[in-house]
Amino acid sequence: MVLKCDNCNQTILPTDTVCWHCGRELNPGQAVAADVPDESKMMPEHDTMISITAVSIFTLITLITILLFVIITTLLASYTPG
Ligand SMILES: [Zn+2]
Repeated sequence: MVLKCDNCNQTILPTDTVCWHCGRELNPGQAVAADVPDESKMMPEHDTMISITAVSIFTLITLITILLFVIITTLLASYTPG
């Protein structure tokens, strides 16, 4: 299925939010009711939950990395050669 811009009639991608030929704003899924906010279509609750989990895991990994860095630094600082 090929989508075309309303304004310039150039081929556009279904994922495009703006026509990259003329700059016209596009509505993905414009056949569906227009009064539904785009965010609910773009980001269903399920994906948002996955995103929050991913961010939590990333934060945890970052904290562990910082903790390891502090521990290694402390060990190196207390190491006295000879
Ligand atoms: Zn266009």
